[in-house]
Amino acid sequence: MSHVFHRHLHHQYPTAVAGDGPYLIDAQGRRYLDACGGAAVSCLGHSDPQVRNAIAEQVANMAYAHSSFFTSQPMEQLADFLVERAPEGIESVYFVSGGSEAVEAALKMARQYFLEIGQPQRRHVIARRQSYHGNTLGALATGGNAWRRRPFEPLLMEMTHVSPCYAYRGQESTETPEAYGERLAAELDAQILRLGPDSVMAFVAEPVVGATLGAVPAVPGYFRRVREICDRYGILLILDEVMCGMGRTGTLFAAEQEGIAADLTTVAKGLGAGYQPIGATLVSGRIRDAIAAGSGFFQHGHTYIGHATACAAALAVQQVIEERNLLARVRGLGEGLEQRLRDRFAEHPHVGDIRGRGLFWGLELVENRETKAPFDAGRGINGRIKAAAMQAGLMCYPAGGTVDGRQGDHILLAPPFILEEQHLDEVVDKLGTAIDQVL
Ligand code: PLP
Repeated sequence: MSHVFHRHLHHQYPTAVAGDGPYLIDAQGRRYLDACGGAAVSCLGHSDPQVRNAIAEQVANMAYAHSSFFTSQPMEQLADFLVERAPEGIESVYFVSGGSEAVEAALKMARQYFLEIGQPQRRHVIARRQSYHGNTLGALATGGNAWRRRPFEPLLMEMTHVSPCYAYRGQESTETPEAYGERLAAELDAQILRLGPDSVMAFVAEPVVGATLGAVPAVPGYFRRVREICDRYGILLILDEVMCGMGRTGTLFAAEQEGIAADLTTVAKGLGAGYQPIGATLVSGRIRDAIAAGSGFFQHGHTYIGHATACAAALAVQQVIEERNLLARVRGLGEGLEQRLRDRFAEHPHVGDIRGRGLFWGLELVENRETKAPFDAGRGINGRIKAAAMQAGLMCYPAGGTVDGRQGDHILLAPPFILEEQHLDEVVDKLGTAIDQVL
């Protein structure tokens, strides 16, 4: 019996021993094409030599120095790199070890900003149903995924949730996408007025919803209206790009495609691409300046803030993406993946929706395409598809947002940016085999 407290205590996990480009290899020598980057993490695959060298060099020089004593070259260089490329207004970067920590830091920074500028009454956070922002208590409270929240509800801070931008289920047949976005913006506006605009601190959203619904982009114009509403009431906009950021949708930040900039942006997964655990909260000049001019101290921190080896790895990852022009590759491969998914599944009786951007795609599986009725949750469809795909040598991520009060079945694809065209055929063939085996 394993002494590891695995998340699933009754599951036998294969032992991963090696990486080879987009493949992971287990102790039996079986190869798995990683079509989901684990959870949208491994955007450079599993054996990039430039990143491995950068890590080895940093460890040889200086693996770690506590951030309350020192800064480090990789941390400074990575911050410069990100700020130079971030949406307008972002001027500094707070480094953490992952996505949940980045969200916690964003929430606390928003709160402290309002304390520093003399608006201590601002404490409400509005987020969206069907969202996922992490599993630590603040991030879990922010998320709107009923299943993940349920056991811990008594521990969660008060939070308000509005409707997600989820056209497949939310948009009326009589509505244009623009009108749908406008209706959702009006719902947000009404919620702010109900809470009292002066008491609201932040609105939090994923530009492309990931872990709950499997890649759902917003309708055109929705985020521009959200930005306007936040500005009207002096509310901070926090965009959670932990999953959809760092090139996954074809631009470095997904918000670029919405034509907006957030006050705080969280990133993680693709930042270090899994070579080291790292996340970051990107901070606008206005927030940084207010804290600098006030207390001069952010009252929050972790032991591994700005870990030098993690920063060196992330810097190398981002340099590789830029030097090899991989964002253009994401856009090109993304078109190829979309085409193949549509060719293979558009008429499938149990594939209700295919949606995504760049190399970030989701399939929504339904019992009935006409009524969009989900499968009975007890059947565990997406988990079984994940298992069947693993048998076939493919990794795909089972996203499980709630649909009609029941756990839904969504399959998320987030393959590495280094794929070749033939890998796209392998992804879709093996996924098709797994889906046909289960359904
Ligand atoms: N935010 C989003 C949008 C995510 O998708 C996730 C993880 O899936 C998180 C936050 C939490 O990140 P982590 O698992 O690194 O704590």
